[in-house]
Amino acid sequence: MTEEKRKPRIAIHSITGCAGCQLTIYFIKDRLLDFLGAVDLVAAPMIKGKNDDDGPYDVCFVEGSVSNRRDLEHLKKWRAQSKVLVALGTCATHANVQGIKNFHDARTVHERVYGQEAANLEGGSAPVAPTPLDEHVKVDYKISGCPPEEVEILKFIKEFLTGMHPRIYHEPVCVECTKREIRCLLEDGKECMGPLIRGGCNALCPGVGHGCTGCHGPIEEANIPQTIELLKANGVPLKLINQHLQKYAGLAFDKLGAAIRKEVEGP
Ligand code: SF4
Ligand code: SF4
Ligand code: SF4
Repeated sequence: MTEEKRKPRIAIHSITGCAGCQLTIYFIKDRLLDFLGAVDLVAAPMIKGKNDDDGPYDVCFVEGSVSNRRDLEHLKKWRAQSKVLVALGTCATHANVQGIKNFHDARTVHERVYGQEAANLEGGSAPVAPTPLDEHVKVDYKISGCPPEEVEILKFIKEFLTGMHPRIYHEPVCVECTKREIRCLLEDGKECMGPLIRGGCNALCPGVGHGCTGCHGPIEEANIPQTIELLKANGVPLKLINQHLQKYAGLAFDKLGAAIRKEVEGP
């Protein structure tokens, strides 16, 4: 008798974030049941009452940024018990909105949010600078987006299940505009971060006349100085570029955007 092929053990875990990334998976209505039939979903605390928190996992999706000590403990544990760890969403890949805190005095932020209780944030709740997962552990794949695109998640799952190495889209949003023959908003004097930002959304916002604000985070290969010149030449204020990158790019902004900071804040 042939032994039945074991289904991959999948976990969907969450640290500090809004849970919108995992909702994107659960909202893949017409194909979610196919996915669930092909895998063994052993941990998904948002939708399951009984979860295997000890692994091992074949694939562990983690959404959210590391923003307190408990996040870090969980992340290290999941990493140790996973063959493949996927950073899901821009919180996990770039620290995203939580990362805004890194540009302000941490104590002031804590006091504004927690008032007098700020001094009691200790143990697992003790804050750490909001950081993407790969600042702490090895990450095998990154699917950014706030939230990530359903089509990118489906593609990843399909390629993984068929034994391929999943390929993550790495072109800027502008490439998708070109493919869709969307007239560039910069030509009409509108603001758009597309040249700096990883696509995968099929140029969703420019497609309806709105500039890309950068929810997928910056592409790693972005030619920052050249892009600044392009955006400046088209009237996009550097202050706005700065704000958008602070909002979505978190600490990566420090690495990728030093040129922008210098221009905005002066030498
Ligand atoms: S990336 Fe966006 S949707 Fe996902 S957890 Fe963070 S804030 Fe929520
Ligand atoms: S700058 Fe914006 S509108 Fe222009 S091509 Fe790039 S993404 Fe599209
Ligand atoms: S166009 Fe930009 S802001 Fe809009 S979904 Fe795509 S990456 Fe996000």
